[in-house]
Amino acid sequence: MNILLLGSGGREHALAWKIADSPLIERFYCAPGNAGIAQQAECVPLDLTDHGAIAAFCRDRRIDLVVVGPEAPLCAGIVDDLESAGVKTFGPSRAAARLEGSKGFTKDLCRANQIPTAAYARFKDATAAKAHIRAHGAPVVVKADGLAAGKGVVVAQSEAEAEAAVEMMFGGGLGEAGGEIVVEEFLDGEEASFFALCDGETAIPLATAQDHKRAYDGDKGPNTGGMGAYSPAPNIDAAMSATVMTAIVTPTMRAMKAMGMPYKGVLYAGLMITRQGPKLIEYNARFGDPETQVMMPRLMSDLVPALLASRDGMLKSFDLRWYKTPALTIVMAAQGYPGHYARGTVIEGLDDAAAVEGVEIFHAGTKAEGGRILANGGRVLNISATGDTVREAQVRAYAAIARIRWPEGFYRRDIGWRAVERGSSA
Ligand code: AMP
Repeated sequence: MNILLLGSGGREHALAWKIADSPLIERFYCAPGNAGIAQQAECVPLDLTDHGAIAAFCRDRRIDLVVVGPEAPLCAGIVDDLESAGVKTFGPSRAAARLEGSKGFTKDLCRANQIPTAAYARFKDATAAKAHIRAHGAPVVVKADGLAAGKGVVVAQSEAEAEAAVEMMFGGGLGEAGGEIVVEEFLDGEEASFFALCDGETAIPLATAQDHKRAYDGDKGPNTGGMGAYSPAPNIDAAMSATVMTAIVTPTMRAMKAMGMPYKGVLYAGLMITRQGPKLIEYNARFGDPETQVMMPRLMSDLVPALLASRDGMLKSFDLRWYKTPALTIVMAAQGYPGHYARGTVIEGLDDAAAVEGVEIFHAGTKAEGGRILANGGRVLNISATGDTVREAQVRAYAAIARIRWPEGFYRRDIGWRAVERGSSA
């Protein structure tokens, strides 16, 4: 098979690493890719917003399957456009990707299908939203309806903070994403990420993970796209996983099909495990980043037939096998991230670091120039490791980082603390 992977981050490098391992692959391309992905795939400079150019490339190179990594092309309808050009594409249609693209859509779907989630109301103007906030009090959560690159959620501890968020969103602070907002109940509990592979009818659980969103040690500092993750999530055992499937994922699949927009691809459920059980915080319509960088090293089965089965509606009797061993990943970011940061600084020692037992290095934002690896983004590297325990995976990942010479980078020194604490008290 000839495969084209779309994207350029750490998630795509982990997918590329796993896809390249498949005996089914003949030619493997990635657009636009990065310096790490170039080890597995031929990187091609296609513009992901130009669906016509991607379709032409697919015809020209006889691509059998396109795998879409990020959410923006999914919400822009790339699956619809490629499929109507005759190209098999893994991922949800534009309509189905609204599970990620519109928080209001997802909340209404939950309400109509008794899927557990935070109580909420939708607003198109500030006055009504503020009145609702004053009536319900804080803490309260204010969310932009549309895609806002991780900046669309404000967990407000006071009414004033919530009202400021409403002003910011309706004031155009998040562009079009904030044209409508959702105000919802604050949920108390521990978060987890749950991934399922879907084919429009059937969903099979993939794996679970937890991530660290804050930039600095002790889960402090600004929110980021994720500074590290580990899999499995220690708070989701087999019974909890079954509950998530029956209470959340399966009714979502059924509802999407009934509405004429069957969901295909990866469904990523952000969950709050509360005292009343798991509740849906949000859906994403794609693999997680950095969660994929811990899921792929744990996947024993070939990924390619699974992606095809999702596209073809053939997951019913499909089975994926996983290694029981946990995995952990640490993000190395450019100093200043998630604020302003420099590009083009030199990174050395990667081969040496990758030689540590159990370690796999996934590039998130790098480019190769003159035989050197340069930083080319905010989140730059993912140092992933597997081990018999989370603690062992953590020790290995940090041992690898110690071999990397990149003075302009930084990383958290406590990734996995919660899982390690649990492991040592178990
Ligand atoms: P989201 O982009 O919807 O995943 O939200 C980002 C983060 O905000 C989540 O990972 C949670 O930590 C937090 N969050 C979102 N909704 C709620 C809620 N209803 N209650 C408490 N925390 C929330």
